[in-house]
Amino acid sequence: MALAALLAVMILATGCDGSSDPGGGGTTTTAAPPRDVAAIVADLNAYWTARDADLGFTYSPVPANRVGSPRDGVTCDGRPIDRAEVEGNAFVDPECREGILVAYDPAYIGSSLVRAEATMAHEWGHVVQAQARELDLSEDADGLPIDAELQADCFAGAWSAERAVSDLADLRRDTARAGDPHHVDLEDPDAHGTPQERATAFDVGVEGGPAACVDELIDALP
Ligand SMILES: [Zn+2]
Repeated sequence: MALAALLAVMILATGCDGSSDPGGGGTTTTAAPPRDVAAIVADLNAYWTARDADLGFTYSPVPANRVGSPRDGVTCDGRPIDRAEVEGNAFVDPECREGILVAYDPAYIGSSLVRAEATMAHEWGHVVQAQARELDLSEDADGLPIDAELQADCFAGAWSAERAVSDLADLRRDTARAGDPHHVDLEDPDAHGTPQERATAFDVGVEGGPAACVDELIDALP
């Protein structure tokens, strides 16, 4: 209850953040990190600590000091997060000597609570994949990088259905919005899926929970 109350307060505090949508161009990477990222991270850690048994692995919470932006001194192999690499985006790097890194652009994440939740929930899908490689669909014999991306959307849907404090339909819309143009090749290493594929993957997680993202996702995709 305490966390729910805290999140409710944070919605009020950040509901009119006012940052521009980076999709419209002109992001400012000097924006302050959103106040709710720490709460979202804490909730994602709590969720995956509770639901790892569904997937048959033991989740290790990501320490708060391994989640950061180019502004706050978090490093990978001694180097700060590259501003250009993370601009308008977020990523997970599981290979850092200091421990797994979740990096984000505060201007992108800070544009709305929905954006922050949708983005971090997707990145936590990659955290789960990094901790349980055997679950990662892209590691299958005929797997592709896009399979890991759609599975991350599915894991994000599972968390969103149970835990997100903003509107589920908004989270789904934000996930689909970030989809590829239709001309991106399925085998493109940077492919994330079309808006329809991403929304479908998200829905599989919403409806079936984490296990469906391993057992049912590929068959459910359009
Ligand atoms: Zn991703």
